[in-house]
Amino acid sequence: MKGVGKETAEQLASLGIETVEDLIWTFPYRHEDFTLKNLAETPHNEKVTIEARVESVPAVTYMGKKSRLTVTVLAGRHLVKVVMFNQHYLKQKLTPGAIITVSGKWDRGRQVIVGSTIKFGPKQEQGDFEPVYSLRNTIHQNRFRKIMRLALDEAGNNIPETLPLSMCEQYKLLPLQEALEGVHFPKDPNHVKQARRRFVFEELLAFQLRIQALRKARQDQEKGLPIHYDLEKLRAFIQTLPYELTGAQKRVVNEICKDLKSRHRMNRLLQGDVGSGKTVVAAIGLYAAVTAGFQGALMAPTEILAEQHAENLYAWFEPLGVRVALLSGSTKAKARRDILERLANGEIDILIGTHALIQPDVEFKQLGFVITDEQHRFGVEQRRVLRDKGQNPDVLFMTATPIPRTLAITAFGEMDVSIIDELPAGRKEIETHWMKHEQIGAVLTKMEAELAAGRQAYVICPLIEESDKLDVQNAVEVFEQLTTYFHGRFNVGLMHGRLHPDEKDAVMRAFSEGNIQVLVSTTVVEVGVNVPNATFMVIYDAERFGLAQLHQLRGRVGRGEHQSYCVLLADPKTEEGKERMMSMTETNDGFRLAEKDLELRGPGDFFGKKQSGLPEFKMADLVHDYRALEVARQDAVRLIESETFWSSEEYEPLRTMLAASGALEGERID
Ligand code: ADP
Ligand code: MG
Repeated sequence: MKGVGKETAEQLASLGIETVEDLIWTFPYRHEDFTLKNLAETPHNEKVTIEARVESVPAVTYMGKKSRLTVTVLAGRHLVKVVMFNQHYLKQKLTPGAIITVSGKWDRGRQVIVGSTIKFGPKQEQGDFEPVYSLRNTIHQNRFRKIMRLALDEAGNNIPETLPLSMCEQYKLLPLQEALEGVHFPKDPNHVKQARRRFVFEELLAFQLRIQALRKARQDQEKGLPIHYDLEKLRAFIQTLPYELTGAQKRVVNEICKDLKSRHRMNRLLQGDVGSGKTVVAAIGLYAAVTAGFQGALMAPTEILAEQHAENLYAWFEPLGVRVALLSGSTKAKARRDILERLANGEIDILIGTHALIQPDVEFKQLGFVITDEQHRFGVEQRRVLRDKGQNPDVLFMTATPIPRTLAITAFGEMDVSIIDELPAGRKEIETHWMKHEQIGAVLTKMEAELAAGRQAYVICPLIEESDKLDVQNAVEVFEQLTTYFHGRFNVGLMHGRLHPDEKDAVMRAFSEGNIQVLVSTTVVEVGVNVPNATFMVIYDAERFGLAQLHQLRGRVGRGEHQSYCVLLADPKTEEGKERMMSMTETNDGFRLAEKDLELRGPGDFFGKKQSGLPEFKMADLVHDYRALEVARQDAVRLIESETFWSSEEYEPLRTMLAASGALEGERID
């Protein structure tokens, strides 16, 4: 490109910009607002731009290599000071009487502007909105903007429009050229906004098209196993349950059974709040596979949980002659060998376990259906290995972390989703209180009343980030305090991740059999543990937990017939922390809390790192652009199925993009 020499080209290359096209698609991360502000109306600490006249000779002081320049200026009727750091060279040009435009932060109390930029001359000679690019100190913003101008003038018209004209018209989206101008050289704030709107939609549409194409490709390629289950046997089993399934459970059982029977491979996500009764739904699905002569597998993230599932399934299925086995990290070598042998011979019908299930030597004879419980606890890779165990077994992922819809259709867009959105009848809301740590005395009194009435309690221990060891230490301390406090009246138990599996087992058993009344624990009880007689929970340092996790923890109580209570001990320092505590006391609805969590923490933190499956968007923001996402999704679903999309010229650029993404071959590349 003319005007870009070798050195600049190298600097640009270090930013990943190799071509003119790369350059044009390098978007600013924000726009600086240079519209003039009236100081009298500007709140403390806000950014301002003012036009002013220099009134004094600047004073410069040095501190080592750093410098500080102070100058008095007159802005309207305000005499204020402007302070600039490390720009002492401005001193020569700031002569009294000069007209300048200053941008910076307004310190209202001290009547000082801590300047970021000074430009010489009155305001009208500059634009109101300047893009700010992420240039990592390689190139100056002004220089970069000049190159951008050249690039757009020379090549901007050669970049083909990606969106069909009909769509731009329908949604009143700026055409590509205008949108590029709007991003790089906006006329006004609205221009930026409209440009952004266009790129957000384009990005989300492209993404959803990939997801939908992927979903279709997988459906076409992955021939599943038609599992012809015995409906009569299923009905008979459901009859033996001590309760009637909720409407939502029935609906989801039907969705699962329909998938099992079909030739498609099931790839389904089952979302249901804590306590909504996912286990029995999973069991029915596994049993269905068994009645058709297949094996089933159920993978849980922790040993406690796997054991609990195993207990449930033994109780339900041993009487029906279904052979259930448990495989975990603590299964002894001999027992393990025996299980593996029977599994390979088809003498085990349902295998339950932790990630011990996905070791290479675990071979099934005829695996037809795989379920993972609390799927967010497993990595993408672990899930894939499990899927690959049989010959295209049907797969169901269960999660008790309700996922806000925007994230669900982004991270799991290529899956079918079932939702259990109804709790079994008669469940009472868990009464939740937020208290300060100093009120622990009152909390213990209340806890004691519950214990005296025959109930049990959990005490979740102070959490120390990233340090399992310190967590344990804390738990031990609290355990000792409570043991002394309840001495001679109630038994206190201790549970944490560093206990030997046998010890964990013994503690859990003692708690569920009622021999221990108070269980002090780290967050290992977070998932799945079911002791219906426990009605009281105290969570120390509750402000350190995210909403989703607090909700999971709280879900350990409120599982039986008695009224349950949850006390959050927290002294949050931030507004956000306070809001989280308030949200917990206001609602028991996991989906509402999930939406709130997303709003407060943003999509990146929602799933925790790495496993999120969320793509990085250039422009789109999953919290704020949810409407655009919804529209893009509907359009993508419709387009992939439509004749026009695959033939009309208008859609050529989008088709090319799809072909390049690998989605048509069933590969997900983000
Ligand atoms: P989660 O969805 O959190 O895994 P569980 O499957 O552990 O929930 O079920 C929670 C509790 O609800 C269990 O004690 C279970 O026996 C009970 N339960 C499940 N379904 C029903 C129902 N339809 N009616 C009454 N109780 C039920
Ligand atoms: Mg569960």
